[in-house]
Amino acid sequence: MSKRVVIIGGGFAGLAAGVDLSERGYDVQLLERRNHLGGRAYSFADAQTGDTVDNGQHLFMGCYVHTIAFLKKIHCLDKLKFQTRPQIDFLDTEHLFTTFDCPPLPAPFHVLAGLFRLQGLTVGDKLRALNIGKALRGKAAKNGALSVTEWLKTLHQSARIRERFWYPMAIATLNENPDIASAKMLKKVLQEAFGAGREASALGISSVGLSELYTDGAQAFIESRGGKIHLRAQVDKLLRNDGKVIAVALKNGERLEADYVISAVPPNVLGEILDEEARRNEFAYLEKLHSAPIVSINLWFDKPVTDREFIGLLGTRVQWLFNKDLLNPQKPKSNHLALVISAAHDYMALTKTQLVELALAELHQLIPASREANLLHSTIVKERDATLSHTVASDDLRPHPQTSLTNFFLAGDWTNTGLPATIESAVLSGHTAAALIARS
Ligand SMILES: Cc1cc2nc3c(=O)[nH]c(=O)nc-3n(C[C@H](O)[C@H](O)[C@H](O)COP(=O)(O)OP(=O)(O)OC[C@H]3O[C@@H](n4cnc5c(N)ncnc54)[C@H](O)[C@@H]3O)c2cc1C
Repeated sequence: MSKRVVIIGGGFAGLAAGVDLSERGYDVQLLERRNHLGGRAYSFADAQTGDTVDNGQHLFMGCYVHTIAFLKKIHCLDKLKFQTRPQIDFLDTEHLFTTFDCPPLPAPFHVLAGLFRLQGLTVGDKLRALNIGKALRGKAAKNGALSVTEWLKTLHQSARIRERFWYPMAIATLNENPDIASAKMLKKVLQEAFGAGREASALGISSVGLSELYTDGAQAFIESRGGKIHLRAQVDKLLRNDGKVIAVALKNGERLEADYVISAVPPNVLGEILDEEARRNEFAYLEKLHSAPIVSINLWFDKPVTDREFIGLLGTRVQWLFNKDLLNPQKPKSNHLALVISAAHDYMALTKTQLVELALAELHQLIPASREANLLHSTIVKERDATLSHTVASDDLRPHPQTSLTNFFLAGDWTNTGLPATIESAVLSGHTAAALIARS
């Protein structure tokens, strides 16, 4: 009889673990609280337009090697479209378009050339950006636990290059205010994305809604190998005895016995399903981990507003604009834009009307032609717990997958994968938990 692995959580981490373990012949039983898979990366049909709306635009990178391998294994990689060369358009409040465009040079020269081509920076700013490259390669990378802002200042990065280049990158990848975000994590992003080949820095965007990208493929893979996905199956408590988790109790009163259990839920949920004693001792760190929000403002107009696929916005509160008609070519044209505010702590309390007004005012400011287009409809998605808050303090709190309970393992983007809490971190954490079970 195959050993039974109960996986709690049907996001990228739980599904990646489920795919690995079902491939290795385990009896995978994946429990998902909601009536759909996907966790913090899912899509839904907008009630008024019928358009597929992501819970937030997700960007992938060429350096997401584990995610790419996972999507390939479940036959879904063709739905992810990668840039042929790393390229990002930025637009500032003076209506200046500038493009971070990396030419075909070996890494890291492609990035340096891209930086030197950027407008709006002085020659001095660009020359001092070389300090970052040196710091990533040398001993300066060890200069203690600094915030992104502190680290950039120690490397003499002017306010201008911080505001126009490093901060947008840090906020997009770490989803936290650079004044409190961990420099260690930004260094990791820069090393992964810019230290390897040019392909590693290229951005990938799903050409379909997020759920369609991977959830059906992963479910089919697991089920074709005898595993089972249980939707609307909310775990209430882990039941342990003699240093092991012996079963999980569901909210509906059911109980599922297990040889192994993987928790692939966010830290606050793990805290809830553990017993008081575990929460007070081994898992006491959970209380100190916090999350950071992302707000997405979806707008539909009566005519096109821009012919660019996506734009980084400088000097405004909205940070990114995604042209969904161009990014999802199969969807009917509806002049649908998704505007994103990451590290959105100050915006969660705003009403829908206030967020739409804010987004429209900034769109009108940056793209004057957008004033000619009439807004037809809007949908807001506020993700309060979008990602781990990558503060300096969080670096040392992220747990390893192995716990003192011999058959209980942790996965999830927030665990200590060495990467920021992203899809890549989630998939890697799932692989690691599965590998630990296979080895045990
Ligand atoms: C708006 C937004 C934008 C983002 N942008 C990017 C991006 O551009 N690039 C990037 O790489 N990452 C991005 N991320 C982060 C990315 O979505 C996450 O890193 C990833 O989805 C986390 O996957 P996970 O499996 O670790 O956790 P989750 O996706 O949170 O999965 C946990 C699952 O557990 C389920 N669950 C919870 N409680 C229970 C319970 N008691 N019983 C059973 N199941 C339970 C949940 O419903 C959920 O499905 C973004 C996130 C958001 C929200």
